[in-house]
Amino acid sequence: MSYAATSAHRATTIATIARTRAASPAPIPTADGRAALLTIADLLDTAADAFRASTPAVINGNTMNEIPSDAWYALTQAEGIAANTPATGFPATVCQYVTRRLNYDLPPNLRPDNAVAAAREGNLLARIRILNTELTTAVVPETVTSLLENAFRLLWKHALLAEVFAADANRPCNRPAIPAVAKKIRTPDTTMALRRAHDEHGPTLAYGLKDRRLACHSGDHWLTANWMVSHLGAAVPSCDEHLHTAVLAARELHTSMG
Ligand SMILES: [Zn+2]
Repeated sequence: MSYAATSAHRATTIATIARTRAASPAPIPTADGRAALLTIADLLDTAADAFRASTPAVINGNTMNEIPSDAWYALTQAEGIAANTPATGFPATVCQYVTRRLNYDLPPNLRPDNAVAAAREGNLLARIRILNTELTTAVVPETVTSLLENAFRLLWKHALLAEVFAADANRPCNRPAIPAVAKKIRTPDTTMALRRAHDEHGPTLAYGLKDRRLACHSGDHWLTANWMVSHLGAAVPSCDEHLHTAVLAARELHTSMG
């Protein structure tokens, strides 16, 4: 199947997902979300038609992967609506699933301040990442359809989590009393040196790992850790990106150790 044909199929599939969701009796999406989903579905159909009607340039015998201007315009509008209407549960990058065949973006990390919520989000993002990877190579239309349905179901869950976290963050009891920041220190050579560093610099410290064999604590990905975050000796490995949740996890670990 040509790029134009697979793009048309993807656009039509996502339009169907949008219409099915708009018709869902669940209390979410809201009325705003429903109306936006139907508009997005129409725009995706317009894009699909434009792909089907297009005659891509052939250069040196190779058919070019072109996005027809009508399709581009419709997709850009659809993304604008998704970005402005979180109640759709569609990511602002919805059209990457129509036009791209590699490197899909994940929705922005919510960085919740509690370790359990962070783990839930990490698990969800990891599952979306797997589907995204499968979508880069999937060619059989039925496979693409089912991967897109699953990806959009998980993306919706992520959008709902974002809503829950936003509501939680506004409750005073959920604002962390102590900011989740670790003071960076030179790597201590011994446990005694770490203890002295805590006496001198405070309860939560981060130091560079000389030995890069540990994985980051986050379930978000499978990167190697380059930091160790210690809360009074309870230590959690972390990459640059997850220092924030490492601090929370180290504090929890310390509490659980009594
Ligand atoms: Zn990490």
